[in-house]
Amino acid sequence: MSGLGKGVITASIAKLLQLSNQNISCIKIDPYLNYDAGTMNPIAHGEVFVTKDGGECDMDVGNYERFLNKDILKSHNITTAQIYSHVIESERQGKYLGACVQIIPHITDEIKNRIKLISYKEKLDITVVECGGTVGDIESLPFLEALRQMKVEFGNSEVLFIHVTLVPSLKVVNEQKTKPTQHSVQELRRIGIQPDMIICRCEQPLLEKTKKKIALFTNVNVNDVISCHDVKSIFTIPKMLSNQGLTQLIFQKFNKPKINYNKRWNKWNSIVNSLQEYNKSIKIAMIGKYVSLLDSYVSVTHALKHSGAYLKRSTYIELLDSEDVNTNKLSKFDGILVPGGFGTRGSEGIIKTAQYAYKKNIPYLGICFGFQLAIVAFGRQNCKLNNANSTEINSTENPVIDLLPDQDKNNLGGTLRLGADQINIKKNTIAYSIYNKKIITKRHRHRYEFNADYLEIYEKNGLIFSGESDNNRRIEIIEEPSKKFFMGVQFHPEFDSRPGFPENIINAFVSSTI
Ligand code: GLN
Repeated sequence: MSGLGKGVITASIAKLLQLSNQNISCIKIDPYLNYDAGTMNPIAHGEVFVTKDGGECDMDVGNYERFLNKDILKSHNITTAQIYSHVIESERQGKYLGACVQIIPHITDEIKNRIKLISYKEKLDITVVECGGTVGDIESLPFLEALRQMKVEFGNSEVLFIHVTLVPSLKVVNEQKTKPTQHSVQELRRIGIQPDMIICRCEQPLLEKTKKKIALFTNVNVNDVISCHDVKSIFTIPKMLSNQGLTQLIFQKFNKPKINYNKRWNKWNSIVNSLQEYNKSIKIAMIGKYVSLLDSYVSVTHALKHSGAYLKRSTYIELLDSEDVNTNKLSKFDGILVPGGFGTRGSEGIIKTAQYAYKKNIPYLGICFGFQLAIVAFGRQNCKLNNANSTEINSTENPVIDLLPDQDKNNLGGTLRLGADQINIKKNTIAYSIYNKKIITKRHRHRYEFNADYLEIYEKNGLIFSGESDNNRRIEIIEEPSKKFFMGVQFHPEFDSRPGFPENIINAFVSSTI
């Protein structure tokens, strides 16, 4: 079921294998009918993670990048819509030479081809494929069928099935219940898949007797039933799985020799240890409209924590509703971060927040929407630009943020400015001292940008435009040097932050809160 932590378990398994010197990558299969995650509400599905090559992907791809410290391409997020559009297009082009086009073999072949292509192209030793959804869902059937076929095609020593299930504990009887696992394995077997291993999500470590019961009912060796119980930090999960012999078991099943790479583990362990709780802490307010699900801003949250760990501080993040901003509440925070966002709702609250941070000299970092609305706030407050606003919010006499040229408001799928682009940083600016480089490459996801007609008036009033892209066509970074920290970036730095390797501007922001 969703929310079980399949993404983190997939990333953790991949990490174990990477630590054993395997060239690894992950693939996420999303059986839904959206072409990609771009048009999905973050409240329902979590953040949209943007890959370097401009994919709007499921947030699990972010977990893969953070665990593996490796960039992942958009081809690694496969959806039903992508498979079907490709097959239908091929049919229209006559590529099936008159054959009757069917789910088996045409759809399943396309699924297999995509997985194989990634494995071959990237010369992967092991490819970890996560199939989203729940066994028994109609939508995931073609994917599970394709995976079943792969095991037949390649054999047991090449394809391994790991089934992730929920083992709930009923407090009243104080017992770990195995029934959901028994039933989902039955469902899997009905479609021809016998899991090789089962990873059980549970609150407390899986008891020996629970393991034995699951093994008995599911035809899985008792050692192949693994406990994945609740932990404080998701980054400790690779170790938890490895302590139960998971690496060894996978190597045995793949007929690969056992390898010990202690050096790699030492490095990873020290990163994981750095993400512990510290005596000193930092309190950050994050203002947005997707407050009911923390996962809506998961990369930003992680990025702040990576920086906190680097500075040996615990990071407490409070998500505040932009529709209901109370500036009294804001004063108790060490820093304010406004992440990406869309639409009118809550925008005035964000503008008010940026004005308050500015006035009270509380460190402020605006990312994308947070950058755009900081510009609006500055315009109204310092440049006497009445009703300054973004045309995304309303049509105004001072459209300081306006639609990017060549944007079509009526086509919302995959049409934003997406992916990594080069940004030029001006020398002798705060941005330059943060990145220590003239050119950086950062990921984007936006449809609106700063309207350069207003450049002069802003500069006159003390705002510095310290980064641009596309030959000065787009403003990427703003800074206000008279403040403790008042900066905004049009790009998304959070997607580049990894445990042990915090992103520069987020690190500079967090440092300024101390
Ligand atoms: N809504 C804004 C735009 O489209 C900002 C997007 C974002 O924050 N990702 O430009």
